[in-house]
Amino acid sequence: MQSYHEFLSEVLIPEQELQEKIQQLGEEISHDYNGQDLHLVCILRGGVMFLTDLMREITVPHSIDFMAISSYGVGDRQASGHVRLTMDLRDDIQGRNVVLVEDIVDSGNTLASVLGLLATRKPASLKVCTLLDKAERRETEVPLDYVGFVIPNKYVFGYGLDLDEYYRELPFIGVVNEDRYTPPDS
Ligand code: 5GP
Repeated sequence: MQSYHEFLSEVLIPEQELQEKIQQLGEEISHDYNGQDLHLVCILRGGVMFLTDLMREITVPHSIDFMAISSYGVGDRQASGHVRLTMDLRDDIQGRNVVLVEDIVDSGNTLASVLGLLATRKPASLKVCTLLDKAERRETEVPLDYVGFVIPNKYVFGYGLDLDEYYRELPFIGVVNEDRYTPPDS
């Protein structure tokens, strides 16, 4: 596999900026859930790095769980918004204060679908924390309670986000060089 440098056009959000923002988000969530039960739900795999850093900035006791989904796409790799659960949560969320931790909200279709599913399980509350928000690409309006960065309509990778499953390990968010890599839905 080539070095990520091959595909990087620019660093959009450097490591330090990410970490500072995550600290702020952690403080906000800690304030909002002070004295309350808190359960973080992460959608595999993109949100994992964000989740583990965010957890370290949340000072109220909390539990975590994971789910995995796959998108039905017709002949492409992009999420169509129709999601199928490939790995369910381990624990029941009924009566819990759930915060869904996401890497990126793009069209909003995936998130809308997941929120619909989780709502049927009767959590006490259900909020969303996303690191990145590609607001101008929204097709389905979704409530975002905590947002790290609103970013332009560019295909990004690193910090949990992949290019064909690679480079999730990078500590920053980079923009892909579209001369070298064709994003899934372009
Ligand atoms: P949606 O369009 O349903 O909001 O987003 C679906 C999924 O597409 C996201 O959860 C994410 O996995 C993927 N995605 C959207 N934009 C990007 C991007 O810029 N880079 C990467 N690596 N994945 C993206």
